[in-house]
Amino acid sequence: KIILGIETSCDDTSFALIKGNPDDLGQIPTLLAHQSFSQELMLAKWGGVVPEIAARNHLEKITPLLDSCFKQAQISIEDIDIVAVTTHPGLLGPLLTGINCAKTLSLMHNLPIASVNHLYAHLEAIHLTTNVPYPYLGLLVSGGHSIYLKVTSPTDFEILGNTIDDAAGEAFDKGGKLLGLGYPAGKIIDDLALNGDATKYKFPISMLDSGDATLSFSGVKTSLRNFIEAHPDKDFKMEDVCASYQHAIVEALSRKLKKAQEIGNAQNLPIVVGGGVACNSELRRNLHKNFSNVHFVAPKFCTDNGAMIANYALRIFHHAISFPECLALDARGQFVSKKHKLEEQRK
Ligand code: ATP
Ligand code: FE
Repeated sequence: KIILGIETSCDDTSFALIKGNPDDLGQIPTLLAHQSFSQELMLAKWGGVVPEIAARNHLEKITPLLDSCFKQAQISIEDIDIVAVTTHPGLLGPLLTGINCAKTLSLMHNLPIASVNHLYAHLEAIHLTTNVPYPYLGLLVSGGHSIYLKVTSPTDFEILGNTIDDAAGEAFDKGGKLLGLGYPAGKIIDDLALNGDATKYKFPISMLDSGDATLSFSGVKTSLRNFIEAHPDKDFKMEDVCASYQHAIVEALSRKLKKAQEIGNAQNLPIVVGGGVACNSELRRNLHKNFSNVHFVAPKFCTDNGAMIANYALRIFHHAISFPECLALDARGQFVSKKHKLEEQRK
């Protein structure tokens, strides 16, 4: 089967075409084409994502990217079996742009649509490169989320722990903003930290005594702000600050992963790490050192991309909504990303 994946939930416009067998999920699918446009540079001057501007930018990029995707794969729209699109969670305007694109293609070509949960797609992107069996323990670390999940099947995700405030990616981005490093700051901090001393400064690791897999990153961010205010002359080596700050974030994720293993009775399960922060080199080093059987999503599939959307749709292929019912599809917006809702689901 051939699937078109559409991702527009935030600031990346991305399309992919993959070919795979929905009845043999052990097989690695073939990526026929992948075309993306990142609005990072366009949004840098705003210091973050402005939903209305992001939605408008998506609109401009959709047609040319779609064209080049089919050109790259050397197939036509007639060859595809279903359209997959992120419907939640995300920013409403950007989500609707992708959903309307999916609906238009569906209307023109009688195609079913798979409604894709962006967070599940981030984790399941592991299957674009590695055949990790279920159940596995997932760590989703992205710009908006930091969640431990026990994944029993492509549709069965149990939350074991979550952040009560900022996400890990947010901690990198907001920390980078305080340090004047630009947006998004995760990769910049990662690169600077390579030449820094992580033991030079002590930033707090929150919730260590909570006894569960709950995370919190607002404290480490505040302590960085206090540190900067205490050093108005910038008499510090940026590399050392980045390494120390990064260490606090990574150490929190690593220690709470142990707790998630306990809570989920998952000590012997493979671990899968996905989302943009899974690119982080210190996180990779730390988890490989402290855990066995750890699998990181390939860096090119960690930040938002259409391939992970198409890949996840392959795994829920038989749940796709047939035509014309799929034309009633709507954005389910932010509801999964509201932290209290996640907690409710957990109970
Ligand atoms: P969500 O998926 O939760 O809606 P998002 O899609 O915006 O959020 P992603 O695209 O998965 O998030 O990841 C973006 C985040 O990853 C940013 O916060 C960015 O700083 C971070 N990031 C990217 N590379 C690195 C790195 N090498 N080290 C740390 N963080 C990184
Ligand atoms: Fe994402």
